[in-house]
Amino acid sequence: MNRIGVMTSGGDAPGMNAAVRAVVRTTLDRGAQSYAIYNGYQGMVDGGDKIKAFGWSDVGGILHRGGTIIGTARCEAFRHREGRLQAATNLLKNGISKLVVIGGNGSLTGALLLQDEWSGLIDELVKNGTILAETAENHPNLAIAGIAGSIDNDLTGTDISLGADTALHRITDAIDAITDTAASHQRTFVVEVMGRNCGYLALMSGIATAADWVLIPESPPNLDEWENKMCEVLRHGREIGKRDSIVIVAEGAQDRHGKPISAEYVRQVLEDKLQEDARVTILGHVQRGGSPSAFDRNLGIMMGTDAVEALIEANGSGLSTLIGLVANQVVRSDLRKNIEKSEQIHEAITANEYTKAMKLRGPGFKESFATLRTLVRATPHEHPRDSKNLKIGILNAGAPAPGMNTAVRAAVRLGVDRGHTIFGFYNGFRGMVENQGEWLDWMSVNGWATTGGSNLGTCRHKIEGRDLYAIARTIEERELDALIVVGGWSGYEAAVTLHNQRQNFSAFEIPIICVPATIDNNMPGAELTVGADTALNVIVEAVDRIKQSAVASRRVFVVEVMGSDCGYLALMGALATGSERVYLPEEGMDLRDLRKDVDMLVSGFRQGKRLGVVLSNENTNPTYTTSFVSRLYEEEGRDTFEVRRAILGHIQQGGHPTPFDRIYATRFAAKAIGFLEQQIDETEPESACVGMINGKYRFTQLEGVTRLMEKTHKRPKVQWWLDLRPIARTLAQPNPQFNANSPQ
Ligand code: ADP
Repeated sequence: MNRIGVMTSGGDAPGMNAAVRAVVRTTLDRGAQSYAIYNGYQGMVDGGDKIKAFGWSDVGGILHRGGTIIGTARCEAFRHREGRLQAATNLLKNGISKLVVIGGNGSLTGALLLQDEWSGLIDELVKNGTILAETAENHPNLAIAGIAGSIDNDLTGTDISLGADTALHRITDAIDAITDTAASHQRTFVVEVMGRNCGYLALMSGIATAADWVLIPESPPNLDEWENKMCEVLRHGREIGKRDSIVIVAEGAQDRHGKPISAEYVRQVLEDKLQEDARVTILGHVQRGGSPSAFDRNLGIMMGTDAVEALIEANGSGLSTLIGLVANQVVRSDLRKNIEKSEQIHEAITANEYTKAMKLRGPGFKESFATLRTLVRATPHEHPRDSKNLKIGILNAGAPAPGMNTAVRAAVRLGVDRGHTIFGFYNGFRGMVENQGEWLDWMSVNGWATTGGSNLGTCRHKIEGRDLYAIARTIEERELDALIVVGGWSGYEAAVTLHNQRQNFSAFEIPIICVPATIDNNMPGAELTVGADTALNVIVEAVDRIKQSAVASRRVFVVEVMGSDCGYLALMGALATGSERVYLPEEGMDLRDLRKDVDMLVSGFRQGKRLGVVLSNENTNPTYTTSFVSRLYEEEGRDTFEVRRAILGHIQQGGHPTPFDRIYATRFAAKAIGFLEQQIDETEPESACVGMINGKYRFTQLEGVTRLMEKTHKRPKVQWWLDLRPIARTLAQPNPQFNANSPQ
């Protein structure tokens, strides 16, 4: 019988509970036994009740909790062979030689050391009679699946580590709040964020909060002039009307000689050179705490599930793999190599080899830094000599999506910085028909990075007949060279219409670029759209609250979420909230499903379940509506549970965009400007939509875009996230083949 141990070690990170839950439940689902090792290596060294068999319900109701329910610790004893000998003894006493280790660099290094020494340790244990020779024979190797759990995102082998997204949420919430008070008082705030060797949190929160200056360890400022330059940027900002200034300093920021730059030092510089009343805020441990974001929950779930698969597939060999998320896919890579590479980055920073450190961090990091450097400027640079001086129109289209303003702001600032002028149309394509809008300059989009909704205004406007003449006239009157459409499907459709009418209207012979922005995540040519992450977090927070309202009674909640005909929000929401069942428009539902689901719920409640959540997409079935399903459950479950219905509605479209949506919006806008500049030189400029596919930015020609869609359902023909359905099923219900609720 396979026995799989799971532990969390080192610094805690939000999302660890989701990973532990996924490890335990997937292990049980595969008919293996699951063991939790409490308090990291300390529990392994202590043994006894610190290594405990876990059943299905031991990991129930923990997805929303921050930290780690099985505890974490730093353990000095494990750094010595004696301690590791004790750890091996305790593992073998429990028959465990397969481990999922969730932690940072240190924890994963420790696991590799234990693996290296394993055969020596068990030989010794056999010799001194601690374990039987037979036990040693049954466990010749230690297999390890590592999960990078660290808010700093300082490990390689994964684009993002568990906890980093939640930390970004905490940081952006805090900085948004600080910005309000800074603006009220015309004050500068210096905010220190975590990241001893890695500037990820500082860099990404800088983009997400539209900070004025960011200092990170990988790219120290030029020795002689950075202080003056920073002050100049801040002074300029004031001169053109900016009331708030934020400087973000990573904990490990340093100058080119390796001398630390503290937040206090930056404050002193500002005070001396600007005579500004600057304040320091050190965010500290709030960055680690709180409920995990939707992304971290689902990341923990995907990684935890794959860690177990990897260990089972390894079939007793001495596997050492790191489970990572690369280009939106869960991938396994050699744990040892990744630890070495992470170490190299650390060494490069210590040795002041910053170009190397930046290179090792990868192209995405470098590119984000370049974008940030342009965006933070209080005023645009002198127009570049190669500037094409384009006149670019921009508009929002479709339903509002959080992040639309962020995209417009980034496009305006990056565009103006490149010497272009940008015209913002009000109310989507209607604004184009009516020629309503304004020229947007650098300061007119100040503060737009962080706000929800659409400041320009947006609408679903189907372009027909006369509209074409009006739009052509607007383009001519404004002398537009190009157009950026930030929106959902109706925006794309309108853009396609203009593009297809080129033969009839010469005004339309301009490049158009569409930036996907809709909470539904139903756009072709993009794995994720701007706005979907915010909506998902709204759903997850709402379901958390709904669940808490039901502590005392036996209750099933049927929660309806948006998404039009795309089940993305429903499925990802169900995963992140641990829902029992999810109804997707891609699958539909029939009477047989409903009967099966009622039986499942009744039997679950008869066995002691107290709470059930079922998520349903708004368009799953026009006849079996949420209201119908709720009443059916109520009737059929009469003696066992009550049913309540919640339709989340438009709160899903509102709210401040999450860091992820802000960063996506900013990067897409940068790509959009680049695309237009490139196309303008072509005799027949193309029109396209931008998106991220397999970790790369892609431009899909508008001509081909409709072919990628299921037109009647307004969703892409291929949807990557549908592959996650088996995981949702596995984690929601114990496998009836095994007695998963009993831990032994
Ligand atoms: P993180 O995993 O977050 O980087 P630490 O570096 O503190 O956190 O490591 C957590 C624990 O992992 C340590 O307390 C120690 O028990 C173990 N550990 C770390 N580095 C090593 C090492 N080089 N050898 C053995 N054990 C280690």
